[in-house]
Amino acid sequence: MMNDISKTDPEIYDAIKKEGVRIRNGLELIPSENYVSKAVLQALGNFFNCKYSEGYPKRRYYGGNQFVDEVETLAIERAKKAFKVPHANVQPYSGSPANFAVYVATCSLGDTIMGHNLPDGGHLTHGWKASVTGQFFKSVMYHVKADGYLDLEEIRQLAENHKPKLIWVGATAYVREFPFEELGKIADDAGAYLAADIAHISGLVIAGVHKSPVPRAHIITTTTHKTLRGPRGGIIMVTQKGLDKDPDLADKIDRAVFPGLQGGPHDNQTAGIAVALGEAMKPEFKEYAEQIVKNSKALAKSLMNNGIKLVTDGTDNHMLLVDLTPFGKGNGIFVQEALEMANITVNKNTIPAEPSSPFYPSGIRLGTPAITTTGMKEKEMEKIGKWISDIIKEVKEFKLPDGKEERAIYLKKFKEFIIKNKKIESIKKEVIDLCKGFPLYPDLDILK
Ligand SMILES: *Cc1c(COP(=O)(O)O)cnc(C)c1O
Repeated sequence: MMNDISKTDPEIYDAIKKEGVRIRNGLELIPSENYVSKAVLQALGNFFNCKYSEGYPKRRYYGGNQFVDEVETLAIERAKKAFKVPHANVQPYSGSPANFAVYVATCSLGDTIMGHNLPDGGHLTHGWKASVTGQFFKSVMYHVKADGYLDLEEIRQLAENHKPKLIWVGATAYVREFPFEELGKIADDAGAYLAADIAHISGLVIAGVHKSPVPRAHIITTTTHKTLRGPRGGIIMVTQKGLDKDPDLADKIDRAVFPGLQGGPHDNQTAGIAVALGEAMKPEFKEYAEQIVKNSKALAKSLMNNGIKLVTDGTDNHMLLVDLTPFGKGNGIFVQEALEMANITVNKNTIPAEPSSPFYPSGIRLGTPAITTTGMKEKEMEKIGKWISDIIKEVKEFKLPDGKEERAIYLKKFKEFIIKNKKIESIKKEVIDLCKGFPLYPDLDILK
């Protein structure tokens, strides 16, 4: 039983090693990803994985939980301290289940809710039609203006007209600071709960690099694996404002998570969350979060200097949205695949007033949390911006055909083009060279 995975399961072991080589030799620019510390990996990979502990600290349905209680209590206390809130629940399995619990705690089936439209950068769980949150509730979607900023006038009007029970603020592709004051006022005027989903920016919020929603929102949700740099997971917090609106809100949230939606918490994940929160309150993390934003702005500058258009012409946070419409519509797929060929990982993304579709969008989304973790700074961002710009221009002649079958054939031809492309190949070599100076996990045995 105690044999090493390299002996018991060589296939999986091999895949893990290959993933290690991939991440070491590439630039991870997906803004929702990050590389956690060895301490977080150690907290995740141990026998806390094996425990059952339904319930909450000191109120469990299973025995043997004295040390789980220690871990969960530490995680809760650290979350409260880091975000400066009176209540935290650290059990949600991930960001989406955390958001579902907010609905269960605050709404009844069929109630009206409001959220940020998905093609405008919002998250599925904020009421999008493909998510149950858009099917079990009457969801009213708000948008960004053509300039990429939230349309506060529209949000105010919709809230007045529809009187939603719950309003979400927060997004998965939004590059500017969230206007929490304005949203707080709109929610108060409508009598709605304001839930701030800070999944992407929670690390920036702890570090004081993005303003905090605490004074304005009733409820705050976050993932723990994005800028917060912890294990995959979710946290739900209730603010003093939330408790003032509804003194039972904290209990309602806890009951919504368990027994409402989940069974046993993932105690190893809780241990990892506690470690990540501990790290996030250290001075080094503040420096890290500041560097994420400096890098994001430096990358934006480099791209724009090289003739690339960005949504809102820049960024306030860790994320950038490239508007590819000057080169055609629906072409995010070409740029994503060409960059991947050069070991630069990004995702295609819709842009405001998307002229194509979510599957074939006209933008790409970039982020700096992971490459900042490796130690890269402004000087590297300048190079990376130039490489991305060069590759965008290299594939700018490709135009997405309309027919489904034509598309498949065209994409295959495109693949052949990028495999043989000399420019992309030479950038890939430079990327690998750059990464050698910023090695990931140098002391992890599996990567030796
Ligand atoms: C990532 C994200 C989530 C969901 O997180 P999962 O852990 O993938 O379920 C929720 N809301 C926002 C705004 C996100 O960016």
